[in-house]
Amino acid sequence: QKAVAVMTSGGDAPGMNPNVRAIVRTAIAKGCRAYVVMEGYEGLVRGGPEYIKQFSWEDVRGWSSEGGTNIGTARCMEFRERAGRLLGALHLIEAGVDALIVCGGDGSLTGADLFRSEWPSLLQELKDTSKISSEQFTRYQHLNICGTVGSIDNDMSTTDATIGAYSSLDRICRAIDYIEATANSHSRAFVVEVMGRNCGWLALMAGIATSADYILIPEKPSSSREWQDQMCDIVTKHRSRGKRTTIVIVAEGAIANDLTPISPKDVHKVLCDRLKLDTRVTTLGHVQRGGTAVAFDRILATLQGVEAVNAVLESSPDTPSPLIAINENKITRKSLVDSVRLTKSVAEAIHAKDFKKAMSLRDTEFVE
Ligand code: ATP
Repeated sequence: QKAVAVMTSGGDAPGMNPNVRAIVRTAIAKGCRAYVVMEGYEGLVRGGPEYIKQFSWEDVRGWSSEGGTNIGTARCMEFRERAGRLLGALHLIEAGVDALIVCGGDGSLTGADLFRSEWPSLLQELKDTSKISSEQFTRYQHLNICGTVGSIDNDMSTTDATIGAYSSLDRICRAIDYIEATANSHSRAFVVEVMGRNCGWLALMAGIATSADYILIPEKPSSSREWQDQMCDIVTKHRSRGKRTTIVIVAEGAIANDLTPISPKDVHKVLCDRLKLDTRVTTLGHVQRGGTAVAFDRILATLQGVEAVNAVLESSPDTPSPLIAINENKITRKSLVDSVRLTKSVAEAIHAKDFKKAMSLRDTEFVE
């Protein structure tokens, strides 16, 4: 009987609970033992039954409609070091786990891929130092790893949507609707900062969904002069047509083309100084992560959870670790290592001011 473990790692995202539920129940339905690793990689490094727990069917009852992640998530510095990963390998073997499914962002999945590639040498070291027996050494030759992408940022290349992104988008839109009402009452301008790290997806989609006046995202940087003039022209035009509200959405990673960050304060200053608008700044913060997942994320998390278990049970030492994606409404498997590499090259291209390359890389949806 195989044992499949799941963990959530990195920033929490709505939909992680339905993903864990689907993984636990699919594993059990397929005759496997199901485990959860508590507190992300921290739980692997600590080990023992307190952190690597066997779960039953009932343990995940009702999790489809619960926000956050009930098995905890953490940022774990120790796992970035080989010594931490060595402990992680020992603890997985002690718990009798054959396959690990990680639900997290690009950092977590980079860690997962590194763990798998290092596995043979970790195993050898554990045997050489008599931490594991020869039987264990033979039994755990190969660690099956699979990634499901849990992140509100929707910043992973090769998948159309990450688990949590649409829930976060929904929360942002609701918040902007509330702001719109108060802005209208006082004829005010609001600068709304939204999450997304290096990715402008949340800001862009929220801007479209709420018909914001102007959107600043990292993927379309211009000079300070250009965006300021363009924003002022557009807002002035809208105001001259009788619009009483102004909403400008700023992605947290928004930058000018010289890579200087554009903060909500900068936008506030321009709207106040140049247009003399009564302007307020709202940083939405963690409400963007909170609450239950929207139906789309629950469905995505559930379908991807089922596929993740299928993938680890079908995987062999020769197949690359898969990442479970969604492309054109179909649940697909991509190479985890290629997806992570592509995602990282987008960030690197932005930092090298090669915006054209960054955009073309982000558009590369399919990795063979
Ligand atoms: P989010 O997109 O929500 O921030 P993330 O998964 O990208 O999620 P990170 O903080 O980058 O979040 O990574 C989560 C954890 O994954 C880290 O605390 C660390 O334990 C592990 N990790 C990240 N990068 C690596 C790496 N290069 N090597 C080993 N482990 C890593």
